[in-house]
Amino acid sequence: MTQNTKNTKQGLVLLGSTGSIGESTLSVVDNLGPDRIEIVGLAGGRQVEKLAKQARQYKAQFVSCLPGEPFNKLKRELAGENIEVLSGAEGQKAMVANENCDTVLAAITGAAGLPAVIEAVTNGRRLCISNKESLVVAGPIVRALAAKHGAELLPVDSEHSALFQALQSGKNSEVRRMILTASGGPFREWSTEAMKNATIEQALKHPTWKMGPNITIDSATLMNKSLELIEAQYLFDMPTEKIEVIVHPQSVVHSFVEFVDGSVMAQLGVPDMRVPIQYALTFPDRAPLSTAPFNLAEIASLTFEDVDRERFPVVDLAYRVMRAGGAAGAVFNAANEISRGSFLEGKIGFSNIVETTRRVLDRFFEGPWPGSDNALPDLETLLRADVWAREEATRCLHLTV
Ligand code: MG
Repeated sequence: MTQNTKNTKQGLVLLGSTGSIGESTLSVVDNLGPDRIEIVGLAGGRQVEKLAKQARQYKAQFVSCLPGEPFNKLKRELAGENIEVLSGAEGQKAMVANENCDTVLAAITGAAGLPAVIEAVTNGRRLCISNKESLVVAGPIVRALAAKHGAELLPVDSEHSALFQALQSGKNSEVRRMILTASGGPFREWSTEAMKNATIEQALKHPTWKMGPNITIDSATLMNKSLELIEAQYLFDMPTEKIEVIVHPQSVVHSFVEFVDGSVMAQLGVPDMRVPIQYALTFPDRAPLSTAPFNLAEIASLTFEDVDRERFPVVDLAYRVMRAGGAAGAVFNAANEISRGSFLEGKIGFSNIVETTRRVLDRFFEGPWPGSDNALPDLETLLRADVWAREEATRCLHLTV
């Protein structure tokens, strides 16, 4: 390796390589080629065979999976190969802290991805965030650590990438409003009454994006958009009142920014997650990528409408959380995980998902609970708030049925 390629090549740790964002990321890595990106480490959960295959193909230095049986199996799979096998949060942290790691793409969902995200910002890595929970739950901490250690935070979510791209034409202080677009989900035109009786199958039919069940249910309640509003606040350090949402069923405009002079910059494109992933990896450069043709005449019309906050009450809850800051995001996320899981198990109705989350937030704001009186809680307090909210949500479930 010459000195020159060493300087331009970035070492990537990909957390969540076996999931859908992980696979799209590896296809972007193929597109950019080995002269630009070197895979330092890959982390997955229990899909050990797939992980081993990826590790061999990309000549990873490290690979990490869940501890216990998956770890033992992965070690057997990779026996005799020059790949270090690790496990759990400690394994992820070790890869991120390795000196060959420049960039971390965090695509492990839920609180499980949090320790490695904290490790990445503490080590001043470029952090490409696909795990929105890490900002919703621990936004105040991640932001403070990133500022202290000079870590760049780059969005991978399509809406936030759009906002980030639009922001390149002005300064953060020149922003009048940031407007996230929402497809509106499968129940965009349903009445409150009809939504009460919505089935799991109906809720799992997303009009634009094909995703896992959790995020698809979150899209149907507009919880996903609510989490994205909170994510935007921490990612861009924007005051609550400057962040808005609008329904745009075609999902062609991925979001837009209005500047103080009235100029509005939007990012448009065919829905393809490789676009925001590649931009996060190559920023401030752009690299060629073969995408499906973008034909506005074929799309013909782009429509927009306000969110109906009566039919979708979770959006008001998101604004309450944003104004409160601190541990409110952790509580909001945890309560939703419990109630959404309960809906997917057929135990509660669709409308009870948000109703349960609302009850938990009401209780939280009554306080005092872990984190409820603290604007800048530490990680331990946030995790305690998360546990409290899960228990409280479990208690509240039967009240809403
Ligand atoms: Mg999104």
